[in-house]
Amino acid sequence: MTIVYLKDVATLKLAAEKCTGCGFCVEVCPHQVLTTDGGKVSIADLDLCIECGACVLNCPFDALSLGNTGPG
Ligand code: SF4
Ligand code: SF4
Repeated sequence: MTIVYLKDVATLKLAAEKCTGCGFCVEVCPHQVLTTDGGKVSIADLDLCIECGACVLNCPFDALSLGNTGPG
């Protein structure tokens, strides 16, 4: 069974231009949110993200972020 946290609420953002494809985020993510084909990372399924922050903390290039930046 796939465990979906909540639909359309995860605030994870990927700045693809900063990603070097090191793969650290893919390794530390407990929910297989991120994927790589050997190059840059992409978000495979945002709804699987529990916003634990592990990928953000482990990205050496500041390519990942969490949190609402918009109003409200
Ligand atoms: S915040 Fe946690 S669950 Fe979401 S993509 Fe990053 S490591 Fe995975
Ligand atoms: S840890 Fe950061 S730089 Fe490395 S693959 Fe993930 S997003 Fe890209």
